[in-house]
Amino acid sequence: MEKNNGRTYWVFRCETLHPNQRPLGRKMSEGCNTWGVKSSKYSDLGGLADVQANCKVCSRKPRLQPKTRLLYRFDTKDSADAFCHQMNTQEKEGF
Ligand SMILES: [Zn+2]
Repeated sequence: MEKNNGRTYWVFRCETLHPNQRPLGRKMSEGCNTWGVKSSKYSDLGGLADVQANCKVCSRKPRLQPKTRLLYRFDTKDSADAFCHQMNTQEKEGF
């Protein structure tokens, strides 16, 4: 039986991982450290070269790579949204 329309939800953080990796001809932009949710039809990002998320705050497009990035996986959008909101709220309050 299929659940959640086969989608998986990833909570990622908009952060700068590789300071020496920057787009050609553009200034390196710092991540804004906001947490966001990306839905994917893949339940495992390990073998994928390139899944791009969108940061709603600063419009960067962080690549979701499990090897270099901390990712949280959720089966439902609600739980992903709740976790994301919790992380963002906690950091604003200085935990
Ligand atoms: Zn951002």
